Amino acid sequence: MSRSTPEYILAALPTHQTASLPHTRPVRVTDTLSIGGSEVVIAAGPCSIEGFDMLLASARHVKAAGASLLRGGAFKPRTSPYAFQGLGDEGLVIMAEVRDRTGIPIVTEVLDTRQVDRVAQIADVMQVGARNMQNFALLAELGRCGKPVLLKRGASARVAELLLAAEHVMANGNDRVILCERGIRTFETGTRYTLDISAIAVLKHETHLPVLVDPSHAGGRSDLVMPLSLAAIAAGADGLIIEVHPNPPAALSDADQQLTFEQFSDVMKQSARVAFACDRTIKLPDLNTRTAAESTEISPPFDLRRPARDKVAVA
Ligand code: PEP
Ligand code: MN
Repeated sequence: MSRSTPEYILAALPTHQTASLPHTRPVRVTDTLSIGGSEVVIAAGPCSIEGFDMLLASARHVKAAGASLLRGGAFKPRTSPYAFQGLGDEGLVIMAEVRDRTGIPIVTEVLDTRQVDRVAQIADVMQVGARNMQNFALLAELGRCGKPVLLKRGASARVAELLLAAEHVMANGNDRVILCERGIRTFETGTRYTLDISAIAVLKHETHLPVLVDPSHAGGRSDLVMPLSLAAIAAGADGLIIEVHPNPPAALSDADQQLTFEQFSDVMKQSARVAFACDRTIKLPDLNTRTAAESTEISPPFDLRRPARDKVAVA
């Protein structure tokens, strides 16, 4: 991509204008939450909203562990039409009720232009999934929705195409775009996708938009979420979006990659240490971040002995 004449104009500001060091402009989500500042922001929750109780339990846990956003899909883009498609509008109602009870803001996917108004009434952040990154009608509609947009990179999209997708949202009036690297399709079969760590650094150079990383969909395996999370923070990610489920083996979607509550708490604690080493912070309500980061205890941050699996889910 050319530095002198970027095809993306809005997504490139102000880096290209000033020719200065990469500069991220925080995106305001609520009065008390922004993404892209010194705090590494964590979104967490189940792949799909499967019911009220499981979402409430998930929200309570991830919030207590330090997450600032609750994730969960009501409308699910499944590779197979016979797989669970999400609870739809009922899932949105459940999400709103859980947000009211816990106070945690919510990020959820919008699949279709016809859903934008309904989802925007409830969501604090509108998620565009990888499969929809170049749904230009949807992107334009989200430009007019009045809510921040979490734009996930398509599995086969180049960084420049991700930025042009962001440009579609911005050119239609919405500059609150957060980018998400979630793994790309490569020849590798040991993981579901390949987390493109380089893309984090490239994006931080090319745009002022904040960058989140999704280690869950990238690796497709719960045992990879810890190392990929730590690598993402070290590479400069402004936050993570992580799948967490009260009982992962019973999950109706993405069972292999969802973390238990306990595993998620561990990821939060180790992530805080890496964030601290990178002059950033992670909010840990029940742990002092500085104390955790300065701990002299030396232990591997994740279990290197766990055997690799030979099968990776595709749906
Ligand atoms: C998701 O986050 O629920 C999801 C479907 O992810 P992706 O669009 O990255 O596959
Ligand atoms: Mn999922």
